[in-house]
Amino acid sequence: MGGAAVIDGKAFAAGLRERVAAATAAFTAKAGRAPGLAVVLVGDDPASQVYVRSKGKATAAAGMAGFEHRLPADVGQDALLDLVRALNADEAVDGILVQLPLPRHIDENAVIAAIDPDKDVDGFHPVNAGRLASGLDGFVPCTPLGCLMLLRDRLGDLAGRDAVVIGRSNIVGKPMAQLLLKDSCTVTVAHSRTHDLPALVRRADIVVAAVGRPEMVKGDWLKPGATVIDVGINRVEGGLVGDVDFADAATVAGAITPVPGGVGPMTIAVLLRNTLVAAHRRAGLPYEMDAL
Ligand code: NAD
Repeated sequence: MGGAAVIDGKAFAAGLRERVAAATAAFTAKAGRAPGLAVVLVGDDPASQVYVRSKGKATAAAGMAGFEHRLPADVGQDALLDLVRALNADEAVDGILVQLPLPRHIDENAVIAAIDPDKDVDGFHPVNAGRLASGLDGFVPCTPLGCLMLLRDRLGDLAGRDAVVIGRSNIVGKPMAQLLLKDSCTVTVAHSRTHDLPALVRRADIVVAAVGRPEMVKGDWLKPGATVIDVGINRVEGGLVGDVDFADAATVAGAITPVPGGVGPMTIAVLLRNTLVAAHRRAGLPYEMDAL
């Protein structure tokens, strides 16, 4: 392995969770109630069950109130929409998260659109996507915001850097590109139809890989010294790997996130942070965004 620094997302996430827990205690003392996060799980997808369980545990550990709603896989869309509307109206609920993917008979977009944008702590509502694109305050999807935090922590000011985001999903790639643009990077978004991806990536000071293809990005695709953020989580024989060939990339990169222990732990930490922000906004209390 080469000289790349390993970006410790696990440690950064643990620090963020501690800061959120301290700010949660202060909020609870002022507001007379804890911030509340409602998580809705439809069906029994094993990966989703694991995510929902760890979100529940993290919510409790931060001192927040967790409300878990489990619905059967064959629940009708109307019943799910009714639940979302009830959570929108529930004063104890600051954040609503509907675990994706939903069963095929349910229109995911309709469910996301039904969430009150000011309780949309996942940042998937079109209003929040629009706010991000327009530079307005809103909720930003947790995974890309976590990546931005790691990049700022590592590099400081990002202005003027060349960034390539590989992947254009609504959940990771697109909001990641918007965040980097907001921090004044020169951003290129690559995707499955991009020509000569290695040549494109080689120009980048910052590479964010969010593809879902095991170890696709190789060391000789990178500019020496580049900072590499690997969002991919791919289950292969022998465990989990990212979208970047870690051992190979580490010989060329300046810094790189490992999988696991890089971006992964950031997602839940940022979800808690977004819930805390939602609680402050709803209670009309000031909050220190940068302090989180
Ligand atoms: P997605 O399947 O929605 O999008 C993948 C994107 O990759 C698409 O935009 C597609 O155009 C692009 N792509 C596919 N093949 C390509 C190729 N050969 N070259 C260039 N681009 C290509 O996936 P997603 O939801 O954005 O997730 C991406 C990865 O990140 C997955 O491995 C997922 O498990 C992981 N992920 C991790 C977290 C986390 O760490 N908490 C959160 C979300 C997603």
